[in-house]
Amino acid sequence: MGQQLYFDNYSPVGDIIVLAICFVMLILVSNSYVNKTKNYSLFLNMIFYLILAAICDVVHHHLYAHAVNGNYTGVYVVRVLYHTFLFSILLLYIVYIVELQHLESYRKIPIMIIASIIYFTVIITDIVMTVTKTGFRLNKDGSMATGLNIFMLGYLAFMVEIIYLMIAYRDRIYKKAMFGFYGTMMVSFFILYNQGKHGQSSFTVATFLFPVIAMLYLVHSTPYDVELGAINVMAMKDLVKYYYNKKKDFLFMSLYMPDFDMEGKSIPQNLQGTIRRFASEYFKKSVLFQINNGHVLLMAPKSLNPDHENRLNKILNSFEIEYNKFKFDYKVIIGESIEEISRKNEYISFIKNIHRNMELNSVYIVSFDDVESFNRYELILEELDDIFKKRDLDDPRVLAYCQPVFNIKTKKYDTAEALMRLKLSEIGMVFPDQFIPIAEEHGYIHVLTEIILKKTCDEISRLIRDGYDVNRISVNVSVLELRDEEFIKDVDKIIGDSQIPNGKVAIEITESQNDSDFMLMKNKIDELKDRGIKLYLDDFGTGYSNMERIMELPFDIIKFDRSLVLASDSDERSEKMVGSLASMFTELNFSVLYEGVENDVDEKRCINMSASYLQGYKYSRPIPIYELNKFFSKVAG
Ligand code: C2E
Ligand code: CA
Repeated sequence: MGQQLYFDNYSPVGDIIVLAICFVMLILVSNSYVNKTKNYSLFLNMIFYLILAAICDVVHHHLYAHAVNGNYTGVYVVRVLYHTFLFSILLLYIVYIVELQHLESYRKIPIMIIASIIYFTVIITDIVMTVTKTGFRLNKDGSMATGLNIFMLGYLAFMVEIIYLMIAYRDRIYKKAMFGFYGTMMVSFFILYNQGKHGQSSFTVATFLFPVIAMLYLVHSTPYDVELGAINVMAMKDLVKYYYNKKKDFLFMSLYMPDFDMEGKSIPQNLQGTIRRFASEYFKKSVLFQINNGHVLLMAPKSLNPDHENRLNKILNSFEIEYNKFKFDYKVIIGESIEEISRKNEYISFIKNIHRNMELNSVYIVSFDDVESFNRYELILEELDDIFKKRDLDDPRVLAYCQPVFNIKTKKYDTAEALMRLKLSEIGMVFPDQFIPIAEEHGYIHVLTEIILKKTCDEISRLIRDGYDVNRISVNVSVLELRDEEFIKDVDKIIGDSQIPNGKVAIEITESQNDSDFMLMKNKIDELKDRGIKLYLDDFGTGYSNMERIMELPFDIIKFDRSLVLASDSDERSEKMVGSLASMFTELNFSVLYEGVENDVDEKRCINMSASYLQGYKYSRPIPIYELNKFFSKVAG
C-alpha cells in the first residue's frame, strides 16, 4: 500500500448519517407498536453498537488529525474499539438470523461456535497486531502501513457464514422477507466494494446499517391501521406472551359489534374516531388490537393504571353516550389478565366463549367462573373434534334422546323428535345449548347429525321389528349442513343401510333469514321430499318469519315454538292471533304441532287452536330413545 496519509479519504458525513438514521429508527420504534420478541432486543442492541461504532469512527479520525508529536495511542485504542463494535454487530446479526430461522440446537450450536471463533480471533489479532505494530500502524509523519488486513478477512469470514445460513435454511423464513435481506446485503457489498476500489472508508459503518433497517421494516414493524389506531391480532399474542413472561398483569376491554363482523364490512368512520379516542385517552400505555372487522380489544398494563376502576367507569359512561348516538349493537367485556388464559395465550377464544352466553348491548366483567366455563368449552371442543375425526356413527359419546309426540287424530303416540346429548367422561352429560353452537361454529355439526340419524334409524328398525306402530321420528338438521354438497348423499346412505322406508324419517329445519340459504334450502327440501322424507319447520314464531317464503317450501308440519304457546296464554287477542295463524296453516294443508305443552290448560288451548300434534313436558320429558316403546303402541291385529 505504500506511504499514504490515513485521513486523506475520510469524511465524517457517512457516520453522521448513520447516527441520524439510528435516532430516527429509535423514534419510530418508540412511537409505534413493536413485537416484543427476543429478536427485538437483538435489534435494539445492534442499533446501540451502530451508534458506538459511528462515534468511534469519527473520534479516532479526529484524534489522528489532532495528534501531538506523532503520539497515536488514542487512535489505536479507539480504532480497536471501533472494529470491536462493528464485529459485535456481525455476531448479533448471526444470532438474529439463527433465531429467526428457529434453528434446532444441534444446528445452532456449531454455527454460534464458528461465529464466536471468528469474532474473538479477529479482535484478539487486531489488538495483538496493533500493540506489536505488526499490522496497522502510523508513522510519526502521519503516514500509515496496513500490514495484514485482519478486518477485511474477518468481515469476509462472517459474510461466508451469513450467506451460508441464508441459503441453507432459506425455507425457514418467508421468501419475500428473505429477498428483502438479500437485497439490502447486496447494496452493502456494493458500497463496500466501491469504497475499497477508491481507497475510501467513510461509508463502512453505513454498510452495517442497511441490514438493520431491513429488520425494522421486514420483521419488527407492525403497522397501525392509521384510521383506527389498531394493530393486527398476531401482535396481541406477542404482547400477551411478553406480559406473561415478565409476570406483569394487564387490563383488557373487548368491544364486539356483530353488525360489522363480516367480510367486507368495517366499523364506520365516525365510530372509528370514537374508538381511537377511547383507546388513547383513558389508559396509559394502552394498545388497541383489531381482532376482526367488528371486534377490537384494548390492552393496558395494570401497574401504570392504578386507578383503573375509575378509568373504566369513565370509559363506560362515555360509551353509553356514544351508544345513544350510534345505536349499533355491541357486547363489551372487561377483565384483568388471568394466569391460565395468558399461559395458553387464548384470550380471543376465551372472549368468544363469553360472547356466546352474553346478551346484546351489555357490559360484562370477567370472573373466575368464566375460566371454568372456558375450560369446559375447551374440553367439549376437544371431544367434538375427536368425534368428527373418527366419524364413527355408533360413537357412544353421542346419545340419542327423544320426546314422544302426541297425535291428536289417532289419540296415540306414534311420532317423536330425536334430541341429542353428549356424554363425556370428564364432565358427564352435556345439553344441546352447550355444544350445538360450538359444533356449528367449527363445522362438526354434520357428523353429529349423521350419528343421531343412524341411531334413530336403528331404533325405528328395532321398533318396527318388535311390532310397534311407528309413524315417523324427526331429526334436527342445522341449516349450515344444507350447504354441504354431500348432505343428501349422506342421508340416503344412512337410511338406506338401515333398510327402513324413507317415510319413517322426518327432518326438522329452522327458517333461515338469508336469501342464498333460502334457495339452497328450497333445492335440498325438494330433493328430500322426492325421497318421501317428511319435513318440519322448526321453531316457528321465534324469529321474523317470512310467510311468503314459508309457503313456497313444501313443509309437512309447522312446529309452533313454546313462546307462541306461552303468548297465547297471556290474553284473548294473542290467543286469537296464534289460533288464526294455526288455522291458516291448516287450511293450506300444513299440520300444526305445538311445542312446550306443559299442562292441561296448555293442552286444551292448543287443541282449540287447530293443533294436529302436541309435544311437551305434559306428555314426557326427553327420554333415551330406546325407552320409546313405553309410549308407542303395537300395531293392531
Ligand atoms: P328444539 O328443536 O326446539 O327442541 C325442543 C327443546 O325444547 C328440547 O330441548 C326439549 O327438551 C325442550 N322441551 C320439550 N318440551 C318442553 C316443555 O314442555 N317445556 C320446555 N320449557 N321445554 C321443553 P333440548 O333437548 O335441550 O334441545 C334444545 C335445542 O337443541 C333444540 O331445540 C334443537 O334446536 C337443538 N337440538 C337438539 N338436538 C339436536 C340435534 O340432534 N341436531 C341439531 N342440529 N340440533 C339439536
Ligand atoms: Ca326441533
